[in-house]
Amino acid sequence: MKRNRKSSLISGQMSSQRKNMTLLAVISLALGAAIVSQAGLLAEAVQRVFVEKAGLSSVSLLLGLLLAVMVVRTLLSYGNGKVGLRMAAAAKTNMRASVLKSLTRASIASTLRGQTGGKVSIALDAVDEADSYFSQYMPRMMEAALIPVLILVASFMLHANTGFIMLFTAPFIPLFMILVGLKTKNKSEEKYALMAEFSGTFLDSLQGLVTLKIFGRAHRQQQEIERSSLGFRDATMGILKIAFTNTFMLESIVMLSIGIVALELAIQLLVFKSMTFHTAFFVLLLVPEFYSLLKNTGTAFHNGRTSMGAVRKVEGILQETAEQGREADEEAGRADGIQLEVSQVFNPSMPPSIELDCLQFQYARDSFMVETGRISFGPGEHIAIVGKSGSGKTTLLHLIAGLLKPESGTVLVNGRPLSQYDENVWFKHISYITQHPYIFAGTLAENIGIGAGGSFTRAEIERAAEEAGLAALAAQLEHGLDTFVGEGGRGLSGGEKQRLALARAFLKRPLIILFDEPTVGLDLHTERVLQHSIAKLAQTATIITVAHRLYTIQKADKILFMDNGALADFGRHEELLERLPQYAEMVDVQRKGGLSS
Ligand code: ADP
Repeated sequence: MKRNRKSSLISGQMSSQRKNMTLLAVISLALGAAIVSQAGLLAEAVQRVFVEKAGLSSVSLLLGLLLAVMVVRTLLSYGNGKVGLRMAAAAKTNMRASVLKSLTRASIASTLRGQTGGKVSIALDAVDEADSYFSQYMPRMMEAALIPVLILVASFMLHANTGFIMLFTAPFIPLFMILVGLKTKNKSEEKYALMAEFSGTFLDSLQGLVTLKIFGRAHRQQQEIERSSLGFRDATMGILKIAFTNTFMLESIVMLSIGIVALELAIQLLVFKSMTFHTAFFVLLLVPEFYSLLKNTGTAFHNGRTSMGAVRKVEGILQETAEQGREADEEAGRADGIQLEVSQVFNPSMPPSIELDCLQFQYARDSFMVETGRISFGPGEHIAIVGKSGSGKTTLLHLIAGLLKPESGTVLVNGRPLSQYDENVWFKHISYITQHPYIFAGTLAENIGIGAGGSFTRAEIERAAEEAGLAALAAQLEHGLDTFVGEGGRGLSGGEKQRLALARAFLKRPLIILFDEPTVGLDLHTERVLQHSIAKLAQTATIITVAHRLYTIQKADKILFMDNGALADFGRHEELLERLPQYAEMVDVQRKGGLSS
């Protein structure tokens, strides 16, 4: 089953490129004809000039023809390469498009799974690696399938003995290559594993340089890098050793085969005098072409194998996302069968009501479980989620946001299950302000603009920045809102990043705000700015905060107290103080200045 799927991407590409494949076959046949004609013409010219002692003028036409055939041969070779490149370009575009399509189609929950780096490397590198399957392997294989046969037929017609020698020695070349291939396969897998280890160690060390220095581990890490780089070197040298021995053996086989043919020809020509010089020379010119084609096939085969590995990786990710997509579709289908339009459910001036209907969620079997029971939040209510670190607050927030799917139970938004909503429609109305918002490489203004999705004016961005308290920061910067931030740009402090996230929200004007309140103490000014901005955003939205500030908690319409995954109780501050001793204890700790996280 798996194997069938593996080749399906290649065969899919092949069938969509049937025209190019036919073109390759035609060019290869023409190339074979050119090779045979070139040898024939050259043999004829030598025969006339050296054996028959004809004047140069009498062979000028022949030489002209020979030159023309050589030019045609070069052009055909070039043409074959060109068709291969065209096929590779088309195949890569198609593959990249399907990878991107499947990744963008995947649900948010599934995109969060797995390594981002791995996905990027598949979308970019693996597809690139697949190039040589089409640009090298296919043209060479087509040549190898057609031209040697043509040469063999010509040789048999000219001198059957040579044909037999070629027929018997030729199989040794692929046979030998298979043997070497088997030997190098393990070695090259080992090399890739060592390469991955090496780059992993290197990246880790670079990213954690400050930590390593502080803990005095820099020297240890240096030794570690040295060790893994030496390991990688040894593996590479091992492969090179096999490759060089391989080339030497291969050349020996080819030389030996050509030698046998030449010896046989010489005996026929000189001892038995049973053939003309013309035929012998013709055959002798054809034979090296035959073997060199077979040798090229070996190299192409090796390239093809590497590319197949890459193609398999691409197929893997396509299959995985397709399965996840199916699951998501099934889930949506089970729930409703219809997708809701935004206008049907959301009133742009009215935050929705949210109801949690006995949600249950686990990251893994037998692990920590989040359970909520039944609870509803009215439009525009301010909800605070509190509890010890690790009690499931963030998990609950993600469940409400639809970033995680509950195993059982439903999140109802305006009375309808969240799964009925189109992901895009839902996320259009949500802002999630995390403690560590992601800042993309780009200007401040561009980073704010990400929040809105649609079209917006510069004035709107400036207003959002102003409302989020970013204007003062922008005023200090030489390029203002056009200053580069994120990777490679100016760094931003934690408080500045949150203000940027708030500016995104101000531009978007969401109906639901999910807010992960900072756990670390911010300076008084930043604290005020954040509080003020959040309060302003909350006027027109339902806001659900993972709260750490007593101020936020006291003002909340409902406080959800999480205890080891379970929603232990909910109510207003005073109510919980009265009936939940753990809550009273937590508040007491907060009052004394301790911080829960
Ligand atoms: P809180 O926000 O209250 O600190 P979280 O919701 O982040 O708690 O985490 C609750 C529990 O779930 C913790 O025990 C944590 O280790 C676990 N957890 C959080 N994220 C994951 C994840 N992606 N995979 C597995 N376990 C997780």
